Amino acid sequence: MTERKVRTRYAPSPTGHLHIGGARTALFCYLLARKERGNFIIRIEDTDQERNIENAEQGLLDSLKWLGLEWDESVDIGGPYAPYRSMERLETYQTYLHQLLQDGKAYYCYCSKEELDKEREAQQGRGEMPRYSGRCRDLDETEVRRFEEEGRQPTVRFRVPANQTIVVDDLVRGKVTFDSNGIGDFVIARKDGRPMYNFAVTVDDALMEISHIVRAEEHLSNTPLQVLLYEALGFPTPRFAHASLILNPNRQKMSKRDETIIQFVDQYEKLGYLPEALVNYFALLGWAPPEPRAEDEIFSLDELVELFSLERLSKAPAIFDPEKLNWMNNHYIKESDLSRIVDLCVPYLERAGLIPTERTPEQQEWVQRLVGLYQEQLKYGAQIVELADLFFRDHLNYGEEAKAVLAEDHVLDVLCEFRNQLQALESFDPNSLQRAFKQTQKASGQKGKKLFMPVRAALTGEVHGPDLKESLTLIGREKVEQRLQHVIDNYRQLVSK
Ligand code: GLU
Ligand code: ZN
Repeated sequence: MTERKVRTRYAPSPTGHLHIGGARTALFCYLLARKERGNFIIRIEDTDQERNIENAEQGLLDSLKWLGLEWDESVDIGGPYAPYRSMERLETYQTYLHQLLQDGKAYYCYCSKEELDKEREAQQGRGEMPRYSGRCRDLDETEVRRFEEEGRQPTVRFRVPANQTIVVDDLVRGKVTFDSNGIGDFVIARKDGRPMYNFAVTVDDALMEISHIVRAEEHLSNTPLQVLLYEALGFPTPRFAHASLILNPNRQKMSKRDETIIQFVDQYEKLGYLPEALVNYFALLGWAPPEPRAEDEIFSLDELVELFSLERLSKAPAIFDPEKLNWMNNHYIKESDLSRIVDLCVPYLERAGLIPTERTPEQQEWVQRLVGLYQEQLKYGAQIVELADLFFRDHLNYGEEAKAVLAEDHVLDVLCEFRNQLQALESFDPNSLQRAFKQTQKASGQKGKKLFMPVRAALTGEVHGPDLKESLTLIGREKVEQRLQHVIDNYRQLVSK
């Protein structure tokens, strides 16, 4: 067999936002195509119109683009196999539908929904696996005429051959066999002629010369149906690779309403995650890098392309761990230029009304330094609002830890001395604050933690935080003096339990 050019596709239905599972599928398809110098295609499967959602297609493409997964052919840029939207391919499906009907490999089914429901209930009542009985398999002309006269509109069903073992040779799961007797004749076209998923996907993948179908495990059960269709239509069967399920942190299958994790890519974007962190994290959901990098965790998209292979996809389910994702996102935030992280954070500060949207150069510099203080610990952009809250408050909330620090014997002394030193300062910046601390140390005899912790607690309300002198500089002289005086004036109340 001559090697086919590698062509992969991600084929979402426009029924919602880009899900993390879909993003991972798209990523694997992208990586395989790039690795093998093939093509990556995005096809929109919109024939299930009842489920389509307006603007979903654009949203999906936007999210894929944001992740950096560039495609070679799709609805927006066209390509040699256009059109790439199923609803624009109806004539093509009709051609193959007629071929199957003519060959007797498909037939019209006139059963009504009510009849089919009844049939199913009866089967379930007998403890059988519900499947189409084949009632319309061999209708004679009179029966057909009667149904037509009743005004019944037929669906088209595929005639599943009896007593066949269907082998799906999956690149992840190995050979998976299915008994054709367990598969009822399935509908391939609706009453109005629109194709059903299994039929459309087979025709499209075949005509678009997709070489590798990479998708999630939940589609494994569809695969024997598609294999039957490939055979019936005389198309070469592509390779299949079904990536493992993604479970939530409680190791359960995710539902759309699952609240243990954030499930949609655009939600991450809105929260200020970095696309390269998501890509890196998604890649490790059900795939592992080869030696010698098997234990590493940080990979750029280019490195992933270099290292990717379907052999390293895992059969075992992947567990989505939001903590790990946050760790990874924090890693990329730390690695980024400060200016990028400032741009990431600014919209949240603006929206919270904490900084003006029109800023003077001084204000802008202040914002940069503020974000700079938190770059090391920031997990995602939106978090800046809670982290930096203390810079914007008129009144601090003193937590239990801060109160405990303030309650120590020497503290009032230190704070009074520090206040006196501040008042003597000509300028207010990290260097002059350094001198004030030195003087306070001399006068109070306290140093190290005993010196800095009370000041931090009094002026930030917290016992941990970023660089203290830079923090005080950014809080500003006026607020610092007010806060200090407030603690001194209300010391007894503040520290009493
Ligand atoms: N439109 C299908 C879906 O959204 C595509 C499945 C496939 O990749 O074959 O799940
Ligand atoms: Zn029927």
